[in-house]
Amino acid sequence: MNNKERAQRIKMILMDVDGTLTDGLLFVLPDGQEIKSYHVRDGMGIFMAHLAGFKTGIITGKTSESLKIRAEKLKIIELYQGIIHKKKVFFEILDKHSLQAEETAYIGDDLGDLPVIKLAGFSGAVADAHMEIKKHSHFICRNPGGKGAVREFIEFIFDSQNKWQIIERNLNQLKSKDLS
Ligand SMILES: [Mg+2]
Repeated sequence: MNNKERAQRIKMILMDVDGTLTDGLLFVLPDGQEIKSYHVRDGMGIFMAHLAGFKTGIITGKTSESLKIRAEKLKIIELYQGIIHKKKVFFEILDKHSLQAEETAYIGDDLGDLPVIKLAGFSGAVADAHMEIKKHSHFICRNPGGKGAVREFIEFIFDSQNKWQIIERNLNQLKSKDLS
């Protein structure tokens, strides 16, 4: 089976955060608060995934209030923070949405993602992912984490399922407030 065939079966797209949706950098303030940045193009990719009818979710080891705000804004359906054993949560999500592993995509960057990378029907590694993640992923992004890798991964799924027409149609029907 090739990547196009794998991507054709996908109904839900799951993501890691640090090093995947971000470049992995954390700015630690004197009060202990952590600041990280996200790429608007990745956000737009997630937004378009919803327009195309995909479900989305996040499984991350860390916990932050800002991620909760970002996920709500992007209308990401599943947000699991503070997760050490991602495999357990992966199966929980499958169960909740009555999905098979083959119908689920996952993108990550580091060793904590490996169990899910091995299970997902279509798995992606950001360009600067750990060697082991790259070794076991179906798709290796040209872009590094936090710099459009998630967008690239999502767009490969759009291409494989010929989703561009429906995305364009739904984008045309949006009002400016939907994108703010
Ligand atoms: Mg990570």
